[in-house]
Amino acid sequence: MQLLLFGAPGVGKGTQAKLLSTKFNIPHISTGEILRQAVKDQTQLGKKAQEIMNRGDLVPDEIMIGIIRDRLGKSDCNKGFILDGFPRTEEQAMELDNLLDEMNLGYIKLINIFAEENEIIKRLNNRRACKECGEIFTLEEIKDDEKCPNCDAKDSFYLREDDKEDVIRKRMEVFRTTTEPVLNYYKMKDQVVSVNGLGSVEEVNNEILKTIGL
Ligand code: AMP
Repeated sequence: MQLLLFGAPGVGKGTQAKLLSTKFNIPHISTGEILRQAVKDQTQLGKKAQEIMNRGDLVPDEIMIGIIRDRLGKSDCNKGFILDGFPRTEEQAMELDNLLDEMNLGYIKLINIFAEENEIIKRLNNRRACKECGEIFTLEEIKDDEKCPNCDAKDSFYLREDDKEDVIRKRMEVFRTTTEPVLNYYKMKDQVVSVNGLGSVEEVNNEILKTIGL
């Protein structure tokens, strides 16, 4: 099974992708997470990506396509995968189709999670990441915690540079102008289902499972 979680930054793609990955035992591939790890490790890719990400822009297509080609080539992807944050441009979508053909994998289903922009901005302002494991929490979830509930790291919560309000607005604009057209690309091929992202995590998850017929 190949699924693609699509939606504006902060709409809940990562959270839902993780749940689906556990349920179906297939890898969750988040290009944002791959890039953040590269930034943390200060690899060549990380050094290149850091500044672009901090200002809310997109990392160039040829770099992203190379990352996805490498990752989908690993053996754990043979039975399927959940993509989160890729493709974000029409060029990336076309390359993904080529790659799926090469891998002899069937078509990919796009799950479009939608929500009001103001609501999303509120959510992004209200979330913190753990700098050790990258897991995201709401302020309510960690209000009394000194340790990360996921990896036990101490005093590790921070507001991601790209979750600051001016960068969020830039990311939203990039989403509207460059990423949203990807939806039409898949709609024309009849590969889209849409789910309202404003419910609780469980509600959205149930809705996704119902919509994909599982
Ligand atoms: P995310 O965690 O998916 O919101 O991604 C964080 C940032 O990583 C984005 O704002 C982009 O700068 C970069 N990024 C992640 N995925 C892609 C992609 N498919 N194409 C270009 N840039 C990406």
